[in-house]
Amino acid sequence: MTDSAQTLPVPGAVGKLYDELTLNAMKDGTFNTNVHIGYWDSPDSDASIEEAMDRLTDVFIEHMQVDKGSHVLDLGCGVGGPGLRVVERTGARVTGISISEEQIRTANRLAAAAGVAGRAVFRHGDAMELPFPDASFDAVMALESFCHMPDRQQVLQEVSRVLVPGGRLVLTDVFDRIPRTEVRHPGIEKFCRDLMSTMADVDDYVPMLHRSGLRVRALLDVTEQTTLPTARHLVRLADLGERPEAMVESNFAFADDAFHPADLAGVESFGCLLVTAERP
Ligand code: SAH
Repeated sequence: MTDSAQTLPVPGAVGKLYDELTLNAMKDGTFNTNVHIGYWDSPDSDASIEEAMDRLTDVFIEHMQVDKGSHVLDLGCGVGGPGLRVVERTGARVTGISISEEQIRTANRLAAAAGVAGRAVFRHGDAMELPFPDASFDAVMALESFCHMPDRQQVLQEVSRVLVPGGRLVLTDVFDRIPRTEVRHPGIEKFCRDLMSTMADVDDYVPMLHRSGLRVRALLDVTEQTTLPTARHLVRLADLGERPEAMVESNFAFADDAFHPADLAGVESFGCLLVTAERP
């Protein structure tokens, strides 16, 4: 199955979805500044889901190699949790863009509250057409945003354009871990439908990066560290009744058969890819 065989996300609609998710989460108390999966270094790790979410941002920081002189673009910045962590941990300046106006309002409010509004600026924009000049960033990070973009190749070209020579791109994306001719697990179908996402074809990634003029540094299957344990944790929390809404449940109550993270528990084929590339 190629990208074109999947329903392509429409950026405006993705923006509205995240507006709604943000407002709902603020209303029902499930608001979280990280809108992404966790990263557990090993199967024996006893990190909580919150710790593992921050750990994912730290893994990005390790791969980006930025410092206080750097300017980082956070592509699909959510409500700013990861970007603010990058500012706090590295001293770098961060500019974030999201297609959701509501997320941008929230992110700028959080930056002001943290006293770093001068170093973390969030603005509304579409990754398909970046509103920035050529060679304006030392690094680009994209935590779980590529899955919502209708044309990954175009975004990679835009990323390559705005990176300085030597600048790095780090991203996570979801991909099918089984041959694409097989029928998809219903949990993956629901995820794609309700979260307006497509699954990447892992075979396409290297050619796409190369066509965009980027050099590959690492392409890692981090499914065992991310998507699988995240689904396990969310199911366990829901079972314990501790966080029954577990960050997303209430947000997807659009239909009776709406996506729930439990739909992905144990779904080995729901892969997560961590990519590091560099503009030569
Ligand atoms: N990276 C954030 C948010 C991940 S959720 C975090 O880890 O917390 C996906 C994000 O991608 C949302 O902020 C959404 O608005 C953004 N996004 C999706 N499509 C986009 C597009 N075409 N242009 C810009 N942002 C987009």
